[in-house]
Formats: sequence, C-alpha cells, structure tokens
Amino acid sequence: MTTIIQPSEIRDIAKLERTGMHSHIRGLGLDEKLQPLPNAQGMVGQASARRAAGILVKLIQDGKIAGRAILMAGAPGTGKTAIAMGMTQELGSDVPFTMLAASEIFSLEMSKTEALTQAFRRSIGIRIKEETEVIQGEVVEIQIDRSATGAAAKSGKLTLKTTDMETVYDLGQKMIEALTKEKVLAGDVITIDKASGRISKLGRSFTRARDYDATGPEVKFVQCPEGELQVHKEAVHTVSLHEIDVINSRTQGFLALFSGDTGEIKPEVRDQINTKVAEWREEGKAEIVPGVLFIDEVHMLDMECFSFLNRALEDQLAPVVIMASNRGMTRIRGTKYKSAHGVPADFLDRLHIISTTPYTETDIGSILAIRAKEEDVDLTPEALAVLTKVGGETSLRYSIHLITTASLVAQKRQATVVDVQDIKRAYTLFLDEKRSVQFLKEYQEEYLY
Ligand code: ATP
Repeated sequence: MTTIIQPSEIRDIAKLERTGMHSHIRGLGLDEKLQPLPNAQGMVGQASARRAAGILVKLIQDGKIAGRAILMAGAPGTGKTAIAMGMTQELGSDVPFTMLAASEIFSLEMSKTEALTQAFRRSIGIRIKEETEVIQGEVVEIQIDRSATGAAAKSGKLTLKTTDMETVYDLGQKMIEALTKEKVLAGDVITIDKASGRISKLGRSFTRARDYDATGPEVKFVQCPEGELQVHKEAVHTVSLHEIDVINSRTQGFLALFSGDTGEIKPEVRDQINTKVAEWREEGKAEIVPGVLFIDEVHMLDMECFSFLNRALEDQLAPVVIMASNRGMTRIRGTKYKSAHGVPADFLDRLHIISTTPYTETDIGSILAIRAKEEDVDLTPEALAVLTKVGGETSLRYSIHLITTASLVAQKRQATVVDVQDIKRAYTLFLDEKRSVQFLKEYQEEYLY
C-alpha cells in the first residue's frame, strides 16, 4: 500500500474564492419558520421554490433524503442555480458545492462514469482536525498598553517562553481585562482549560475561558499539570475526497489540482483513501461533510449516466444531488423516447421536483439592485429603471451582464455613477438573444455556410 498523505499535509491546498454570477447569494433568505422573506441573504421572490428548498435543507440536515435527488425545473434565468447555491450555504459554511454541466462529462479524456465519480467525490468534504501541537511554558511577558485608548487599548501581546522558542499571542479585550483583574504578571504560570472552560492562575480557578476572545481560531488551551501552560494548536480545514485522491495519485500528483488536469484515477487509490478516511473518522481526526453536486442541463445525460446515478445515490457517502432542467418534454439522450425534462420515468420517481416561475418586474429590479451593489457599481434610479425594463424584455442574465459593461462605459467617460446613457450604449454594443437572432436573419447571406 502506498503512503497516504496525512491530514496535516493537505491543509495547504489553495482554495479559490468563488465569485461570479451567484456571489451575492448567502442563503435561502428564510425566517425561523422556513417562510421566505421578501428580500434577504441576496434572495428575492421565487417564494414557493425557496420554501420547498428550505424544507429539503431541513430533511437533508435530519438525514432523511438518502437515495433521492432534487430537480429544479424552470425557464432559463429563473434562479435554479441560485436556489441550489442558497441551499448549500444553509447547510454550512464549509460544505462543498460542485457545479457540473451534464455535457461536460462527455470528453475524450475520461469515461463518463469516471467524470461522474470525480464530481461526486469533489462534493464530499472531509473536515480534518489537524494533529495537535503542544507548547508548554510560563508567561514571560505581557505587553498591554494601558495608557492607550480606543482600539489600541483592546489589543495586547502575551509572550509565552518555551524551552526552545518564544510564542507571541495577540489578546482580545476580555482576556486583557481578566489578566489585569487577576494581576497576572510576567513570570506567573497560568493554566487555561478550554475543555472545562476554566482559567487558573497558580492553580486558582477564576473564570471561564470561553468568555474570552483571546484564542485565535486555531489555538486551544488545555488542562495541564500545575506549573505549566499547555497550548494545543488545532486547525480544522475541509478538503474534498477528490482532492485527497488527486494528491495521492502517483501519476498526477497534487499540482494537477491547479491545472485541473487530473485524468482518470485508479480504483485502488480510491479504495485506499476510503479505508484511510474511515480510520481517521474512527480516531476522531476527521468527519465527513456531505456537500452538494449541482448537475445542470440534465437532459444531456444518457441512460448509462442515469444508471450510474441510480447506484451512486444509494452510497452512504453520497452528496446531495441537485439537478436542473429548463426543458419540457424532450428526448432522453441516445434513445427515441421522450419524457419530462429528458429524464427517464423511473429516475424521475426518485426526485423531489421544485419548479421556479418567471420573475415580476419588481423582483427583477430588486435582483439587479443587489447585483449592482455586489459589483460595486453605483446606478442612478433612472438607470436602474431602464435596466429593469430591459431585464423584463430580454432576460435577467442579459441585464445582469449589462451592469458590468455599462459601468465600463461610464468609467470611460470618467463618471462614477452609471446613468441611462451608459446602459443605452452597452445595450447597443452587446446583443441579447432575440436581437442576435434578428441580426443573423438580416445578414445571413454574408455568413459562411
Ligand atoms: P439556466 O436555466 O439558464 O441555467 P437558472 O435558472 O439556473 O438559469 P440562475 O443562473 O440561477 O438561473 O439566475 C440568473 C442570475 O440571476 C444569477 O446571477 C442568479 O444569481 C440571479 N438570481 C436568480 N434568481 C434569483 C433570486 N431569486 N434572488 C436573487 N438572485 C437571483
């Protein structure tokens, strides 16, 4: 068996920040009774779809959706992807979200089932607790600027001297107050027990550690014999099963994570990783975080893919699979049969179907205002009104794109606020779908056949 890279070595994998079309979505925008708020967490309108999505999130959290998947059905630009993103965020901040267009899995580089397996494993997070590192020592110096006021007075430094190194920690205000109150001085030995929540100076217990904001996220103080201070460093980070596969795959190595060129991964590597992860779980070093796999254009999947999905959904480690379709009755790929959304009837039976409906002009206006804020673009009220009208007549996505292009046009004329003239200019520079078709009709003679 090859050596599996340890959890602590995996933490340095760079994570790319996800920005773009849906970066304004922070959740489903529901109240505690799972009722949709009109405009919250970047979400607007689409009330019944959001309510249904909220109920499914609850079912997922209660572990009651095993073996099933979700289908978001609705016209283009009605928020299917946005709602799937919102569901992921409701599930937790480090829950992996993988987006896949069904057509992407038909490539020459790997088989369809390998592409789907990779997508599944990308959507399963492993929350790894790094092995702890112990520092022992006495307080050699407490630097608190007591003459300072405001923010400066709220920070300080605690220096712990160990046999072989010096460690400096920034302190939060509450910790400084506690140390001051207890007259902790350089040379004192303090014990902080994060597990039981008590801090003691020379063995005397005086207050609760969790009330302090002194500990950075990765620093944990633990009980130790009197006369010593132990600091356990504990970092928690989440990586996907796929990342662990790639790092441990001999042929590709971890650089493949950056190039995205991972190729096929041998089943033996995956078996070893599964065994290792099971061990880490038993030892309390890791937890599984089932994520969300979003498969767009589901009508592009063929029967082989559906039978793979049928089986894969039964797996204990399966992520939540959310599919999306903007098609009605259509042919199932590779067959002569038609079915709803191009999904075979027996598979449809496994799905919770949520439908999205077209937006009202007010909703479009609110979404555009949120997007403008997200992109740091100032719009005059008149510009927003024109943009909203364009959104209603063309598509929501087209009008969202106009925000960016119109702001570039405004910048060009050295304006800081986007006005109607900038929207008009961007509208004439870039065609929406209808005008593009019209343009082709008018000029088709001039194109190559
Ligand atoms: P398609 O069928 O073309 O894939 P879609 O239904 O997945 O479309 P989205 O991509 O989710 O549509 O929506 C288009 C844009 O509008 C995105 O930027 C999305 O974040 C935003 N959006 C859609 N619905 C909402 C909403 N209810 N609240 C806030 N933003 C939304």
